[in-house]
Amino acid sequence: MPACKRCAKCCETSPPTLHQEDKELVIQKIIARDKLLTLRQGEVVFEHSSQQYLVLKEELIKIRTENSKCIFLEQNSCSIYQNRPIECKNFFCSQPQNLLNIQYKNLLHRLDIIKRKSALGEIIQEHERICNLHKIKKYLKEKNIKKVEDALYFDFNIREYLKNKLELKDSILNFYFGRPLEKVLDLIKPFLR
Ligand code: SF4
Ligand code: SF4
Repeated sequence: MPACKRCAKCCETSPPTLHQEDKELVIQKIIARDKLLTLRQGEVVFEHSSQQYLVLKEELIKIRTENSKCIFLEQNSCSIYQNRPIECKNFFCSQPQNLLNIQYKNLLHRLDIIKRKSALGEIIQEHERICNLHKIKKYLKEKNIKKVEDALYFDFNIREYLKNKLELKDSILNFYFGRPLEKVLDLIKPFLR
C-alpha cells in the first residue's frame, strides 16, 4: 500500500467536519470557535466524496478555510497535527473508505459546545426557529415574501447587534449562526423545485 506523501492536497480540498470525538478540541480551545463554520440543516453543499450536491439533513461544523485551504495548514503542514480532528486522522487518499465509514456519524453540533440555556444558546435556538431553512424553502415556494423578509431581517439584525454590542467578528458569527442567510438563500435558490 502506498504511504502518505504529506503533499497536503487533502487539506486544500475539503476541510474536516467535526464529530463528537473532537468536542474536547473545541472545549479546550485547541480549535478556537472563530476557526469554525456552521453549515446549517437544509443547506445545499457540494460533497467531495460523491462529487454531487446534497441537502444537509443535519448541521455540520467544519474547520474554516482561507484561500480555499484549511485554516490550520501552514507552510504545507498541519499546525495542529497532534490534535487534528478525527476525519483528518482517518483520511488517506488511497483508502477513502476509512473516512466514508465515519462520515455523517456522531456529528458535533453547536449546542454540544454552547449550553442550551445560556444567553447565546437561547439566541442560537431562536435564530434556528425563525431562520429554519426548511421553513424558508417552503415560504419561497409559496411566494410568502413577508416571512422570508422577516427571517432575513432577524438574521441581519442579530449579527449587527452582536457585532456592535460585543464586538464579535463575522468569523465567529458564522460559527454561531452559519453563513449570512442572504448568502445561503442565493446558494439554495437554484435547487428549489
Ligand atoms: S493523504 Fe494523500 S492527499 Fe493527503 S497528504 Fe497524504 S498523500 Fe497527500
Ligand atoms: S486540520 Fe490539519 S490535517 Fe486536517 S485538513 Fe486541516 S491542516 Fe489538514
